[in-house]
Amino acid sequence: MFTELSLNERLLKALTALSFEKPTDVQAAAIPPAVAGDDLYVIAQTGSGKTAAYVLPILQRLLEDESQPLAPRALILSPTRELARQIHKDIQELARFTFLKAELVIGGEDFKVQAAKLRKNPDIVVATPGRTLEQLSAAGLDLSAIQTLVIDEADRMLDMGFSEDVLAIAAACPAERQTMLFSATTGNAGLKRIIAEVLNEPRWLEL
Ligand code: AMP
Repeated sequence: MFTELSLNERLLKALTALSFEKPTDVQAAAIPPAVAGDDLYVIAQTGSGKTAAYVLPILQRLLEDESQPLAPRALILSPTRELARQIHKDIQELARFTFLKAELVIGGEDFKVQAAKLRKNPDIVVATPGRTLEQLSAAGLDLSAIQTLVIDEADRMLDMGFSEDVLAIAAACPAERQTMLFSATTGNAGLKRIIAEVLNEPRWLEL
């Protein structure tokens, strides 16, 4: 049951509204260590419920956090715009009874409009790597307050040639952050390098 995962009432209310009755396997395995702040390396497929497996801990930790930085506290990297839009939608549904806000930073959308939205200080940014680096170098995006970094579909991200971008983005986040990496496969040497460089003593979960 979700009630056994020590989640905030406002998150439980959203889960009820979504008719999510019990956690999927990946959620049951990942949510407790993620809420505790551990780094995670999770092998899970699309359709496993992996999005809520990292979004719920992010929301929980933000609800517990009383610091009020003027910059986003969580960054979720997606290989594609479509997946980023879906993640953003899932966050809005799971955060509907909270005051937490998420913003999309993806290519194909007006750069200045996006920068203006970022100035409104969203709690969470869902982004594709290329546009993240562009907003970063234009000072539209401030990663100095990131507490949690998620790399979703990491194997696909590397297949699409984003390896160096992901490393540069991770390097622009504070070193003492939490990082969660999700992949459908155990990947190749490229993925092992990312894991070695961006994760800190991760828990390895294979679902
Ligand atoms: P994902 O693997 O994150 O793309 O999720 C796959 C689908 O499962 C999405 O449509 C979610 O809304 C749905 N889902 C995620 N978690 C649960 C749950 N605990 N109970 C029922 N449906 C869920």
